[in-house]
Amino acid sequence: MGIKRLLILLICIGNYGFAQNYEAKVDSLMRLMTLQEKIGQTVMYSGHFDQTGPIIKTDNKKHIKEGNVGAMLNAHTVEGTTNMQKLAVENTRLGIPLLFGYDVIHGFRTIFPINLGLSASWDLKMVEESSRIAAEEASAEGIHWTFAPMIDVSREPRWGRISEGAGEDVYLNNEIAKAYVRGFQGDDLTKTNTILACAKHYIAYGAAQAGRDYHTTNMGEGELRNTYLPPFKAAIDAGVETVMSAFNELNGVPTSGSKALLRDVLRDEMGFEGFVVSDYTSINEMIPHGFAKDSIDAARIGMNAGVDMDMMGEIYRLHLKKLVEDGKVEEAVINEACRKILLAKFKLGLFDDPYRYIDQQREDTTKYQQRYLDKAQEIAAASSVLLQNKNNTLPLSKNSKSIAFIGPLVKDEAHILGNWAAKGNRSGKAISVFEGIQDYLKPNQILYAKGCEILSDDDSGFEEAIRVSNQANEIVLVMGEDHHMSGEAASRTDLKIPGIQPQLIKKIREANPNKKITLIIMNGRPLNLSEEVDLVDAILEIWFPGTMGGAATADLLFGKVNPSGKLTVTFPRNVGQVPIYYNMKNTGRPIPENNPKQDYKSNYIDVPNSPLFVFGHGISYTNFKYSDLKLSSEKLTFSNSIEASVEVTNSGNYDGHEVVQLYIRDKVGSITRPVKELKGFEKIFLKKGETKTVTFTISVEDLKFYNSDMMYGVEPGEFEIAIAPSSDFKFKHLFNLND
Ligand code: BGC
Repeated sequence: MGIKRLLILLICIGNYGFAQNYEAKVDSLMRLMTLQEKIGQTVMYSGHFDQTGPIIKTDNKKHIKEGNVGAMLNAHTVEGTTNMQKLAVENTRLGIPLLFGYDVIHGFRTIFPINLGLSASWDLKMVEESSRIAAEEASAEGIHWTFAPMIDVSREPRWGRISEGAGEDVYLNNEIAKAYVRGFQGDDLTKTNTILACAKHYIAYGAAQAGRDYHTTNMGEGELRNTYLPPFKAAIDAGVETVMSAFNELNGVPTSGSKALLRDVLRDEMGFEGFVVSDYTSINEMIPHGFAKDSIDAARIGMNAGVDMDMMGEIYRLHLKKLVEDGKVEEAVINEACRKILLAKFKLGLFDDPYRYIDQQREDTTKYQQRYLDKAQEIAAASSVLLQNKNNTLPLSKNSKSIAFIGPLVKDEAHILGNWAAKGNRSGKAISVFEGIQDYLKPNQILYAKGCEILSDDDSGFEEAIRVSNQANEIVLVMGEDHHMSGEAASRTDLKIPGIQPQLIKKIREANPNKKITLIIMNGRPLNLSEEVDLVDAILEIWFPGTMGGAATADLLFGKVNPSGKLTVTFPRNVGQVPIYYNMKNTGRPIPENNPKQDYKSNYIDVPNSPLFVFGHGISYTNFKYSDLKLSSEKLTFSNSIEASVEVTNSGNYDGHEVVQLYIRDKVGSITRPVKELKGFEKIFLKKGETKTVTFTISVEDLKFYNSDMMYGVEPGEFEIAIAPSSDFKFKHLFNLND
């Protein structure tokens, strides 16, 4: 052991575990490091050894051994992480351990519903539990860091990555961001079952023009501050350790090269103290953006802007040293980046034991624990949204004589896992819908036909599907998107159920005019279901529900579990309405309620302005009645909050959960204000016949926004308030805030 390695050990051994010592330890370590070694910490490579992609042409092993790598992406399996860690710890001059990152997005082994689905549970505890389980499974393989949560607000269903977020609302995104961070990072990062979270993609990535991935974003500062930044502030307040800079440009400046956004806003204003990692080669992409003239220029811009780590771009390793020597990047800037990365490694205890996360036995006993699978089943059911249920078509009866299950996704075990999980190889077999229903029906009650593929125009299976539908008493269709149709680089211009599936639905209805038809849809974005709502009786949106998705769906179909999810994104009537979201602004020519056809108003001439399904919509097998909204006072003051309460009664025949939603409208502002804004929610459980009072506390904090001078505050005046089952309501109550 060299003398320097011994010194590091001495630095690290003493007092390990006392947070206040980390900074001092980092300083001591950094005194031993050369500039090139410090730069090494800012470099991330992929765990695929000897990869010869278009970007990585060099030998990663060599770079690790030379101390030129700080972190590895996609490093998984106990063997893989052990070997890589060995390369760093045993071969480099200082033996600094690597950080292993992975996209643990909606589960690792046990897969939960895609994030958009999970948000539809409106259950923060479930968000936290699912990310806690994901962290437990991932950390046992040696993973220290997840590139999650994605907290990009998005109002753009054409954008494939809407599936990875929590929908269109700011308040809900804030609460969900905090829950994910709590789940991944736990309460103590030194525990080996916690991992670093990464709030991404900073910033405004979800506002890509025309929904095309990586595309330009343009918006005023007010919109940025009032809509897109708050979830990042929430994640920072919850202690998120890392942030990922995005691919897109915003108002002409690539976000991975924006000092104003990364230093002034993220750090100085919002108080972020962790490190920023670029998105995959997003620093290099400043060249095609036309913002950097070459890779040297891009490295300079990225580091000076505040991107501490370069994911896969190679350009920090290649150019930073020279840039420092030429005086284009100050060494202090590199020191700062290196310091923050090392600090994260100290917090994880990696200097104490670089292998402490990697544990084959823990891996074996952790993954797919029964309690994880049970949780995944519960969460998948809570995330599904019953969009329509004409004539109480659902729940189905276990005694039904025969039910035809038709569609390309009935027996699917791959798409059901959703985008990130289905792509990787970490998740085992999922339970298909077909497997799920076996718990409820006997073989002689089940009829099946695939009908068609998701993405093919071969209709040769229609005939059999129609024959099968004719034989059955009831029909359940399981259709939707291929998992590749959402997620990254998967934008669509059409929001219909893809391929010839809509034609099959039509044909089945024509052949069975009087039978009850249920449509189960699996998809990663709001779809245009405007034809299907008339063709089928019930529609159950299950998103991509994950490992236990089929079992959860069967629980819902047969009424063992009562649907309780509600939409966190608006479902349009057609793609031409997009962007359409509940908290838009009024125009100067809103459509009068008593005369919706009046000319020269802000309406379309071909479809109503309203969406097909509103934000917050989701029905249940029971009914909930809202009554008696009360305000503790109609006068809010700067020092005293008021309470708003409502009685909610389960007036139907099933026990069930209800998401009670609080909305407020600021009637007049120094900038125009949204027609309504979600300001609170509570998911309650009511037995049939039961009534509960749900109370929300409102203070001036809830009414603050950035005005045209970018001042954050509240403006006195009149506010409308409602507590409702969805965003589709009319305000009837007011309160005032006086000077
Ligand atoms: C995605 C990120 C992801 C990263 C690493 C990028 O292409 O935009 O969300 O974390 O790859 O896999």
